[in-house]
Amino acid sequence: MKRTLIKNAIIVNEGKSIEGSVVIENEKIIELLTAEQEPTSPCNETIDASGCYLLPGIIDDHVHFRDPGLTHKADISTESSAAAAGGVTSIMDMPNTNPLVTTIDTLNDKFELMARKSVINYSCYFGATNTNYKFFEHLDSHKVCGIKLFMGSSTGNMLVERMKSLMKIFSDTDLLIATHCESQEIIKANIEKYKKKYSDVVDLSVRYHHLIRSIEACYQSSKLAVKLAKQTGARLHILHISTEKELSLFENKPLAEKKITAEACIPHLLFTSADYTTLGTRIKCNPAIKLKGNREALRNAVNSGLIDVIATDHAPHLLSEKEGGALKATSGMPMVQFSLVSMLQLVNEGVFTIEKIVEKMCHAPADIYSINHRGYIRPGYQADLVLVRPNNKWELTKDSILSKCQWSPLEGRTFDWKVDKTFVNGHLVYSEGRVDENYRGQQLRFR
Ligand SMILES: [Zn+2]
Repeated sequence: MKRTLIKNAIIVNEGKSIEGSVVIENEKIIELLTAEQEPTSPCNETIDASGCYLLPGIIDDHVHFRDPGLTHKADISTESSAAAAGGVTSIMDMPNTNPLVTTIDTLNDKFELMARKSVINYSCYFGATNTNYKFFEHLDSHKVCGIKLFMGSSTGNMLVERMKSLMKIFSDTDLLIATHCESQEIIKANIEKYKKKYSDVVDLSVRYHHLIRSIEACYQSSKLAVKLAKQTGARLHILHISTEKELSLFENKPLAEKKITAEACIPHLLFTSADYTTLGTRIKCNPAIKLKGNREALRNAVNSGLIDVIATDHAPHLLSEKEGGALKATSGMPMVQFSLVSMLQLVNEGVFTIEKIVEKMCHAPADIYSINHRGYIRPGYQADLVLVRPNNKWELTKDSILSKCQWSPLEGRTFDWKVDKTFVNGHLVYSEGRVDENYRGQQLRFR
């Protein structure tokens, strides 16, 4: 039996940061000790974590690993390795791959692929179309994290726009419905408007992206989703909220009492439209990054409780696919490897507390999706843990990037925190720059 003691860490968990130790036995945490307590069982390995912070592993409820079918951009092996290096121990993958995950067969194939290739724990959404709600009753709610619904088009063209279909989707499932909300009509009208205005250009500057995919486009679509959820009693989770205006649709009551929850993504918490000048289409994503006031409102909403979860919307493309402007360049950016250090940097800037980061990136996703035995540092829970080191300044350069696309919008930035070690089910998957590519994560189970 393998028993590992991680001692002298500052353990950030359930709203507190306390110096202490953790004992891992095989896959599980068996003891959580304060600094004064000694482990009750002898350990055959000791990791001295003095000066480090021990957090539950990050659970990212929103990634696009592009596998199967779009594997020139990314694949499950490369991206799960990048995730592990970033302290992420579980991901939920989106269905806009090729083939789309919109039938039971493609879903089963996807799970098989993830089991074969992922070095971290995983689940996957079932993609809704205008007509496939008949499959919902065959989905195993212990294995599928939710239904992904595009109420606005993005990579993969899975737009569901028929009102009758939307009504059916919202009424026909007890599974969580995760929505991408942007009104297609408003976007279309804006494209026409700007094309007419600048009829001599072949593409529009990326600086128009947030005017085309406007605040109103987000708000009207999110408002419709909330309305449908309230009418039907559906469990709604609106992904990547990007505007201050949408925040009025949510309530800051305790998470356990919510049937409608909201996610903010790292790009919208880090960047503003001013960054298009320096980063160009690298930060082009859907929904668009908007004027600065929205970023400040989102940050406040994370603190107030209007926003429940922080995720990445990790959506890699090749740099060559990012050529062009608002119309031609692809939307999405890689983020999963640097999400935790980016948020810890905001802790240093006084935007969030470290306890808040753990709440929004570990506890809340575990609670919202009812994930079995993960997301907290508790005896009996799976030992998904990340050890991070503060005051360890480093610069993000190309050679540190594990994502297949080999670029990051954060290149050149410096970070004070470094991910030191990542444990997945008690196994040391990432340590001091190396990923154990032979390890395979587990499929997430939901209560
Ligand atoms: Zn996405």
